[in-house]
Amino acid sequence: MSDVEKRDTVIIGAGPGGYVAAIRAAELGQSVTVIEKSETVGGVCLNVGCVPSKALINAGHRFQEAADASTFGITTQAPSIDFSKTQEWKQKKVVDRMTSGVRMLLKKHKVDVIQGEAVLDSDTKLRVVSTGPKQFMSADDGLTIEFKNLIIATGSRPVEIPGFKFDGRVVDSTGGLNLPEIPKEFVVIGGGYVGTELAGAYANLGSHVTILEGTPSILPNFDKDMVAVVLKQMKKKGIDVVTSAMAKKSVQDDNSVTVTYEVDGKEATIKADYCMVTVGRKPNTDDIGLEMTDVKTTDRGLIEVDTQGHTSVPNIYAIGDIVPGPALAHKAFFEAKTAAGAIAGNKTANDWVGVPAVCFADPELATVGLTQTEAKDKGIEVSTAKFPFAGNARAVSLDEPDGFVRLVTTKDDNHNLLGAQVVGPGASDLIAELSLAVNSGMNAEDIALTIHPHPTLSEPIQEAADIAIGFPTHI
Ligand SMILES: Cc1cc2nc3c(=O)[nH]c(=O)nc-3n(C[C@H](O)[C@H](O)[C@H](O)COP(=O)(O)OP(=O)(O)OC[C@H]3O[C@@H](n4cnc5c(N)ncnc54)[C@H](O)[C@@H]3O)c2cc1C
Repeated sequence: MSDVEKRDTVIIGAGPGGYVAAIRAAELGQSVTVIEKSETVGGVCLNVGCVPSKALINAGHRFQEAADASTFGITTQAPSIDFSKTQEWKQKKVVDRMTSGVRMLLKKHKVDVIQGEAVLDSDTKLRVVSTGPKQFMSADDGLTIEFKNLIIATGSRPVEIPGFKFDGRVVDSTGGLNLPEIPKEFVVIGGGYVGTELAGAYANLGSHVTILEGTPSILPNFDKDMVAVVLKQMKKKGIDVVTSAMAKKSVQDDNSVTVTYEVDGKEATIKADYCMVTVGRKPNTDDIGLEMTDVKTTDRGLIEVDTQGHTSVPNIYAIGDIVPGPALAHKAFFEAKTAAGAIAGNKTANDWVGVPAVCFADPELATVGLTQTEAKDKGIEVSTAKFPFAGNARAVSLDEPDGFVRLVTTKDDNHNLLGAQVVGPGASDLIAELSLAVNSGMNAEDIALTIHPHPTLSEPIQEAADIAIGFPTHI
């Protein structure tokens, strides 16, 4: 191995941004090297994020179904759960399966994967320090790589807050996903989408959960009437939600953690088995040698990019959680393809109008494009059309009638679709149709004239479109 290796397209990080960029760059004929510091590929999403959290949420739903199906006239016996088996299933049958699939795809595309930590030396060179067994390819300490093009996809990590050092019974989302037991009492600090999802999962698995949220509402990125549907379900499940609550400190002993928080100047405490802190994430841009380059960052440490992912250095691109915009895996996937294409000379650019966002709460929430409030803030006059799942035969037969579909359209006779929100059963899947509609510049009539199968959860989309054009059917 020479002191300086010359490589074409180099990617730092094998998360949703990095591995998808690698596949697309290889498909476009580039010779690709990925440098990943952990021993597995797939990043946060596959290992400690999107995928294991949905597995745990699913386990919680199964447990609930087994515990009570009396609505349908079915008598069940109190189920028991061996949580170590749940965790083993989550890891081996879900996470390991998905990450080995990614590993195989990278191999098939002849992507060289080096296990090591990359640190930039200049606008054209980086150093790789080996971080483990030479699993994929040798990466001796001090290997220097000179790259033609670089895509940085180093992702993000959880934020710690004073008084809550991640240790023992105070855990971040990764710790929360991997608890050794189902807590009897579980405190979640931060009611964003990660905190809300895991709070729901553990409540369904039998925990008593308290969410402490610093702002006046959980899920601040979703409309209030959507959040109200989730809060109603939380109340039914016995989840306590304390808003405008400032977490002050945590004290641990061998068996518990006591959390002190303040609301309206008054202090209160909760004794719990575990306390999970999910108050946000920060970009992994502070320890990758950016100061040795001309790459510019924002004051939040995000890398400034144009619509193709170019940084301020023409041959260096950045994608995923380290660039502005929602920190979501599907956004990283999209940016990855754009950046790999840009290196190949393609003209595709990112356009953030139609990035859907989903929270897998009970019930699910999903949004795409503009909300009514965002439209108002932009000075755009809009109309809204809302159809409740209570009027949908499929939702009623599933015994999940709470929630609605809302379309946000221009306030004119064209009814152009600017955005849509869904809260209710299947929202995470239903938003895909609405994303296609928003991204394709469709109007409400296009949706109203598209036959939706009956009886399905997709019909409220067509029903809302009927309302938008002034011809409501089932309402
Ligand atoms: C609990 C949880 C649930 C989530 N659920 C969802 C969801 O349902 N849907 C959704 O869209 N998003 C979800 N997300 C967010 C999603 O996981 C991230 O948006 C996504 O993983 C970002 O991808 P990325 O490629 O930018 O970074 P990451 O996934 O963070 O990957 C970055 C990779 O870079 C590596 N790396 C970092 N620095 C270096 C270095 N110097 N050298 C070499 N390698 C390095 C890291 O080890 C890591 O593997 C969730 C996140 C969490 C925490």
